[in-house]
Amino acid sequence: MQKDNIQLKKATTPQSRFKNQDVEPEFWKKKKLEEMNKTEWELLCDGCGKCCLNKLECKGKIYFTNAHCRFLNPKNCLCRIYEHRFDVVKDCRDIDLKAIREKPRWLPRTCAYWLLDNGYDLPSWHPLKTGKANSVFEAGVSLKNRPLINESEVEDYEDYIVDWQDL
Ligand code: SF4
Ligand code: SF4
Repeated sequence: MQKDNIQLKKATTPQSRFKNQDVEPEFWKKKKLEEMNKTEWELLCDGCGKCCLNKLECKGKIYFTNAHCRFLNPKNCLCRIYEHRFDVVKDCRDIDLKAIREKPRWLPRTCAYWLLDNGYDLPSWHPLKTGKANSVFEAGVSLKNRPLINESEVEDYEDYIVDWQDL
């Protein structure tokens, strides 16, 4: 999710991110995160949308809520303002190495960046393995079809803490 990525700026559907990408097969097994180019880096994102949930931090632990950022489109799990997100949302985080390694962990346990950085392979449903952006939806690991609330409707985030296994 870097600011100047051309592929994502042009993306209008989840699948468009995975078409016509000239990358080495299974590049994620051959390079560390630090060695990846921007295209490779962006393709690692499975588009689950779970990093756009609001979280609470208490006594060194992160609690996810089911309240999503007001700019997330819950139908396709994409940011509606991707190109301008850091200008518009002051606490929107860039997914860089610092964010991936931050403690306590605030990225979901299915996040490709976190998985690779911690020595795991990509899951079988990852779009880079299936060739289909939809596979993250079909596997039920994205925000699609989950009970969500727009953060604009929330008064107290503590009322919306969720204990989903894939967070
Ligand atoms: S949690 Fe990770 S894989 Fe999912 S949308 Fe965010 S950056 Fe992408
Ligand atoms: S602005 Fe909101 S929806 Fe967009 S990337 Fe940031 S947290 Fe996610």
